[in-house]
Amino acid sequence: THFGFREVPVSEKQKLVGQVFSSVARNYDRMNDAMSFGIHRLWKRFFVATCQLRKGDRVLDLAGGTGDIAALLKERMGDHGHIVLGDINGDMLRVGRDRLTDRGLVRGLDYVQCNAEALPFPDANFDLVTMAFGLRNVTDKDAALREIARVLKPGGQARVLEFSTVTADWLKPLYDLHSFQVLPRLGRLLANDADSYRYLAESIRKHPPQDTLKAMMEAAGLARCSYRNLTAGIVAIHTGYKV
Ligand code: SAM
Repeated sequence: THFGFREVPVSEKQKLVGQVFSSVARNYDRMNDAMSFGIHRLWKRFFVATCQLRKGDRVLDLAGGTGDIAALLKERMGDHGHIVLGDINGDMLRVGRDRLTDRGLVRGLDYVQCNAEALPFPDANFDLVTMAFGLRNVTDKDAALREIARVLKPGGQARVLEFSTVTADWLKPLYDLHSFQVLPRLGRLLANDADSYRYLAESIRKHPPQDTLKAMMEAAGLARCSYRNLTAGIVAIHTGYKV
């Protein structure tokens, strides 16, 4: 790749997040399936199916981790265009690269270890930037959103898929039970790692709700920002445009 890896200062939170994802990298699929009863696959499919994507586009999949989103993007793009997978964690990135390579997906894909808060790409470089289940792990979310806006070409689209705030009252107690009781136990059972799963549940709770994130995207310089709840707001897709 023609993009160099630039060393960036790493905060305590980033170190913790690094440990969490290094620890879960190999179990990542099972974890996602357990967390969401497999529904994350549908959320991701819908997310990618509704992205603004044209032939020959350059796409950055931020926090691309194990390559789920990139694989779906590639399905849509075929041999056209180019996808850069960016993730701060080398272990996640390696798992993603191996997976995509094993599926025969090699051409038009690049892997860049990078921090979303300080992207090693020039301005106006991508038609689409996607970030799925990544933003909540970022320490300085405003900086990450500003960076996304910076690297987008005019007319380009920013898309964030992230856990959000449950809007249905009946679902709230069940959701709490799942996050704080079921999830850590599943973590211990599946990965012998209750702490990482507890961290994940907590990071979901601390993540800004729909309207706050929408306002943050606007403040970061994105226009026509909107969101759409999936599964009663368990996750939301946020969209914004560079003008
Ligand atoms: N997008 C993938 C998916 O949907 O399956 C992976 C999501 S995973 C829950 C979160 C990813 O965010 C991890 O791979 C982690 O390394 C990455 N990440 C966390 N903080 C980051 C940062 N500051 N910059 C870039 N990636 C980051």
